[in-house]
Amino acid sequence: MIQLYNVSKIYPNEVKALNDITLHVKKGEFVFLVGPSGAGKSTLTKLICREELPSRGQVIVNGRSVVRMKNREVPYLRRKIGMVFQDFRLIPNKTVFENVAFALEVTGASRKEIRRVVPSVLRMVGMEKKVNMRPAQLSGGEQQRTAVARAIVNNPVLILADEPTGNLDPDNSWELMKLFMDINRRGTTILMATHARDIVDDMKKRVVQLENGTIVRDEEGGVYGHDV
Ligand code: ADP
Ligand code: ADP
Repeated sequence: MIQLYNVSKIYPNEVKALNDITLHVKKGEFVFLVGPSGAGKSTLTKLICREELPSRGQVIVNGRSVVRMKNREVPYLRRKIGMVFQDFRLIPNKTVFENVAFALEVTGASRKEIRRVVPSVLRMVGMEKKVNMRPAQLSGGEQQRTAVARAIVNNPVLILADEPTGNLDPDNSWELMKLFMDINRRGTTILMATHARDIVDDMKKRVVQLENGTIVRDEEGGVYGHDV
């Protein structure tokens, strides 16, 4: 699903965010990305969805080189990737339903399809009773579940999550993780950058640890680690 070969990223201000990263993630995997602040986790996720281009190396997502990809092909790549952020990023003046529907509308889905798919996705994340509420009326956990609904509504092959539990209390964090596990069980690959030590330790998934832009650990059934 994801193949990075000798990838380096140097930002225009000369900051070396990633240094010669080689990483393969197979379809259906659930991978935690850990490491201290500034280690390069966000940069890595941005390269995968082509929000940034690498300075060196090759990035292949779902069989396609995102480096060679033409600008007009980027929307098709993004459609295959669901993104979830720490700060939810919902549209404030749209309802729960409209926020999720919007992700479908931009792909050209029909009203009929939207009316069919959005309620079933909102049911899946447990937001079916709050369809007409706006983000400000929701708890953090509810906002994030709405954001997850938006991320999966196009049936992505991959979910990139950047500290999705960063603004949630422990109970809501666990609820959200159960949702991600559910989505992963249906075959969707998940790459999640996180600082949630308890969750990583409990879930025993693959753990990739970054430090100063290099992979210092890549472990199946790993833990969060002491020196992070
Ligand atoms: P993490 O997500 O692990 O905290 P980042 O990928 O955000 O790490 O950052 C890695 C390094 O790159 C840091 O030194 C950060 O300051 C720098 N960096 C991130 N984004 C930019 C940018 N757009 N321009 C310049 N430097 C950046
Ligand atoms: P239904 O059987 O009514 O389609 P589902 O609960 O199986 O209900 O799924 C509802 C919708 O949620 C699907 O049409 C799909 O868009 C989305 N969905 C469900 N599971 C996933 C998943 N693992 N990854 C991405 N999207 C999903």
